[in-house]
Amino acid sequence: MVIVGSGLTGLTAALRLARGGRSVAVVDAGEIASGASSINGGMVSPDIKAGIKLIFAHHGPELGREMWQATVRSVDIVSDLADTEGIDMRIMRGGMAALGIGPDSQASFEQSVSWYREHVGVEWEVLGPGRIEEVIGAGPFTTAIYEPEGFGIQPARFVFGIAERAAAAGALLVPNCEAISYQHEPSGFRVVTSSGTVRAGEVVLATNGYTTAHPSSELARRIVPVGSYIVVTEPIEELATGLFPGGAMTYTKKRLLNYMRRTPDGRVLIGGRRNLHTGLDLEESAAALRVQLVGYFPQLADVPLTHVWGGKLAVPFDLVPHMGQVDGAWYALGYAGHGVGLSTLMGHELGGMLLGEDPPSVFTKIPHPTRFYYRGKPWFLTPASVLYRTLDRLNR
Ligand SMILES: Cc1cc2nc3c(=O)[nH]c(=O)nc-3n(C[C@H](O)[C@H](O)[C@H](O)COP(=O)(O)OP(=O)(O)OC[C@H]3O[C@@H](n4cnc5c(N)ncnc54)[C@H](O)[C@@H]3O)c2cc1C
Repeated sequence: MVIVGSGLTGLTAALRLARGGRSVAVVDAGEIASGASSINGGMVSPDIKAGIKLIFAHHGPELGREMWQATVRSVDIVSDLADTEGIDMRIMRGGMAALGIGPDSQASFEQSVSWYREHVGVEWEVLGPGRIEEVIGAGPFTTAIYEPEGFGIQPARFVFGIAERAAAAGALLVPNCEAISYQHEPSGFRVVTSSGTVRAGEVVLATNGYTTAHPSSELARRIVPVGSYIVVTEPIEELATGLFPGGAMTYTKKRLLNYMRRTPDGRVLIGGRRNLHTGLDLEESAAALRVQLVGYFPQLADVPLTHVWGGKLAVPFDLVPHMGQVDGAWYALGYAGHGVGLSTLMGHELGGMLLGEDPPSVFTKIPHPTRFYYRGKPWFLTPASVLYRTLDRLNR
């Protein structure tokens, strides 16, 4: 079996398949785990990017509840793997908090939390003035939705831990090997890579935000790659603990949102984007993120930033992750920036399904849309960025 992509999706599938006795090669166009899985913000919480309410509205409560339960499992599987595999991923159990500003956000947060309580039974709380300091020690924020089950990890430790265990189970990890195309033949697949051609019984595509027309132009039409950028300050233990007293993972409830946390080594991390494009200049992105960071926390004005980096998310048109088949190959992707838990779960489930041990994942059950005007080149990112920025400013 050939798995294309060595992030959490590809590697958790490889781990399960290799332990199930399959012969597995994981090829990656870059270094192993050099995609989003090693460089993300490390924030883990249930739900999907679109919000599970959308699944209830479009696909009914039964499928909505089933998908919700999968997102709950996606949180559990990350900490279960830390325990069972003995991976020291520096878990910070401080919950997840969505941050809002002003009375409108208080009302809409109350409404949202009461929907979640009623339909999926969460124990989330709205923290208003007087309690918001439990999750964020300063800044303009007046309201938060607090999700106690959320937590943070050190993502590189997690994904390299899974890579090591997959390799120990017998999976062959092949870096710098791009899958260029594949053909379905009567006896399996013929996969053409930059290092040569291989035959495989099955092909799994686990390329998420790094999906291009290689090896499947049809899959490239089903997701939009979007950039996400991160900066960290130098270690500032005391200030960082003052800002994130309980160690919560936080994000602003906007379209062009920011995500912020304290890191295990006492830095402040902020992520986001100037616009939706991938491959933005890192120095410009760092400058823009610094303006946002200091806008929230003026006390950090003189604190140096030490690192900046960026990566790619995969945004499907319906903002729902999908698992399915394209020209005979299986794929799992489309986490839209909410993929640490979901990629881990979906790789694991896909592996289980191919071994005949698990039923098809709930993420196989809804059609994966594209748009007639989309050929895998997202020409609309600039106007979409302008629209999102305007709607954010208008608080809509
Ligand atoms: C900056 C940033 C911050 C994020 N923060 C969070 C967060 O805090 N919480 C959260 O839940 N999610 C977050 N995410 C999203 C999360 O990281 C991803 O959803 C998840 O890691 C996706 O894993 P994956 O294995 O599907 O893809 P990836 O880890 O991106 O791996 C895909 C791999 O496919 C390879 N590839 C592509 N095409 C080919 C080809 N033709 N041949 C061979 N290899 C190929 C690429 O080289 C890449 O290594 C963030 C993402 C980014 C970029």
